[in-house]
Amino acid sequence: MPRKRKASQGDLFANAKAAAGQTDRPSTFRQAVAARRSPRPRTESSGVEKKRTWLSATAIESMRRCPRCFWLDRNQGIRQPEGIVSRLANRFDVVIKRYFDLYRGTNELPPMVAGRVKGKLQHPFQEKYWHPIDDRYGYYGKLDECLVSDNHTYTPVDHKTASSDPNARELIPAYQFQLDSYAFLLEQNGRPTTGIGHLIYFFPGHGDRLHHGFPMEISVKTLKTNPDKVVPELKKAVTILVSPLPKPTPDCNFCTYVEQVKKF
Ligand code: SF4
Repeated sequence: MPRKRKASQGDLFANAKAAAGQTDRPSTFRQAVAARRSPRPRTESSGVEKKRTWLSATAIESMRRCPRCFWLDRNQGIRQPEGIVSRLANRFDVVIKRYFDLYRGTNELPPMVAGRVKGKLQHPFQEKYWHPIDDRYGYYGKLDECLVSDNHTYTPVDHKTASSDPNARELIPAYQFQLDSYAFLLEQNGRPTTGIGHLIYFFPGHGDRLHHGFPMEISVKTLKTNPDKVVPELKKAVTILVSPLPKPTPDCNFCTYVEQVKKF
């Protein structure tokens, strides 16, 4: 059964900031890591939505890992050093999206996924969805793809590049929350959802004749989506952001290192 669109959740956050008190900025820590400040402001403008801080599923995942790192990132623009990161997945995304676009507006699904998912590719495709939480914070998401059923219900899709068959591993919990978030954002924007979402994995296969083309395997995981899981996390995020700096996560090597170095 398609899920019905719900009323705006903005009023659920009205008491969070009042309960939490005012932000208390840590001057000593701030001085110590001032050089790590992000040059990028943590607010975005979108039409009339100026100066609102927009949170994403990635930000919520960071909050779950460590509220302190989340607070420092969003309130002070201070992020952990990134290290060397592969951009291969970004390039894969571009190539896959172009391939899907060839079938947009037709009655066909891309042969790579035909028979494994239902519906048509959304046409025109709306990639980004926004939902104001209150007058200061909002939630946004950027879908990789969206399928529309005959009864005008929507199924969010996310592409994943993997090193091997994902069926041999447990699902990463953040992926479930990502699809829950997309379902939430679709519904808040007037698009009822099917109650499911797809993760489409692309990973290298084996082959003896690589000179004829590198084999890529595809696996589709279909998850039930639960948009109701999102609001409590957003409420938690706002409460953290308007509260004093949280304590470090005890088993984190980075903050332990900073504390030890401070002694010298
Ligand atoms: S404990 Fe680790 S994750 Fe948390 S603020 Fe410190 S460095 Fe960041």
